[in-house]
Amino acid sequence: MREYATRLLPGDALGVKEAAALLRAGELVGIPTETVYGLAADALNGGAVSRIFTAKGRPQDNPLIVHIADLDALPLLAAEVPELAARLARAYWPGPLTMIFRKSARIPDEVSAGLATVAVRMPSHPLARAVIREAGTPLAAPSANLSGSPSPTLAAHVMADLAGRIPAVLDGGECAVGVESTVVDVTGKTPCLLRPGGITPAMLAAVAGGVSVHPAVTGRLPEGAAAASPGMKYKHYAPKAHVVLVRGTPAAYAAFVNARQAGQVAAMCFDGEEGALRVPYITYGRREDSAEQARRVFDALRRLDEIGAQTVYCACPPEEGVGLAVYNRLLRAAGFEVIDVAG
Ligand code: AMP
Ligand code: MG
Repeated sequence: MREYATRLLPGDALGVKEAAALLRAGELVGIPTETVYGLAADALNGGAVSRIFTAKGRPQDNPLIVHIADLDALPLLAAEVPELAARLARAYWPGPLTMIFRKSARIPDEVSAGLATVAVRMPSHPLARAVIREAGTPLAAPSANLSGSPSPTLAAHVMADLAGRIPAVLDGGECAVGVESTVVDVTGKTPCLLRPGGITPAMLAAVAGGVSVHPAVTGRLPEGAAAASPGMKYKHYAPKAHVVLVRGTPAAYAAFVNARQAGQVAAMCFDGEEGALRVPYITYGRREDSAEQARRVFDALRRLDEIGAQTVYCACPPEEGVGLAVYNRLLRAAGFEVIDVAG
């Protein structure tokens, strides 16, 4: 892999021009979106896309999401746009919703990792949209972290993981949603939720009349089962520390954490509930504010590594609305280890 002196490009017209020029030349650029930072390449250039897998250390069988700025680009990528998808696009694009289509012949195999389908999203972040338009091509972009680490919600997170491995990162400040897009399969009659995100099951059902939730969203796939969304089978979003989710009332959580071996243990808890803890802690939003938890969860996981935590007991988030996405990410960060405490 080539080594780069990675540049942090300003989030202005000049930065957008430079990012787009690199992308047109087949290079990779870290770009801000409203969900998390993406590691972008020209989606129609298989050679450029294959560099994403090298830079991230991403498994080859995990397909990428293609980002577009205008609806005109969709028929180039999807072999067919079902009526259900058109309705969801009218309701939630641009925004944190990715839809799975049967792919057109223009999609390089590197993007779809050998599947017959392609994932497409139209981001709402003005810098992401400007870069796509200026590059003049759809952009394939997974999250801009090293494979397995927490997703990046600041340009500094992208730098921490990928400096030296990519030529540039476009700085757009903090991501507004903070967790990756909702992924939904729209090839059937009812949408099937494959990965929860900023567009909630209730929002999908309001437009589609119903929604099914894939069992892998809240559980572990059985050994050998085919993954509907290959990304869901990997341990993911994890800091270096060993993470355990702890479900219970604030008092039961605090009692459980305080009873652990001091010195090696840290807590990841809700704002306002840290007072009862006798171990180092990082907070990730108020218990009743799932949107705030979504914005802060990945940064909190990264900061736990900075304080050198070995084992992190993380207060389990409520699973309603966007909280389902926070729970889904933390469950994977914890390798599905959840403890129920009484109280
Ligand atoms: P990331 O960009 O890191 O958020 O990863 C993209 C996610 O979208 C992964 O979980 C993939 O498994 C999922 N994905 C991408 N393309 C497809 C597809 N064609 N079918 C199902 N899931 C997909
Ligand atoms: Mg990712």
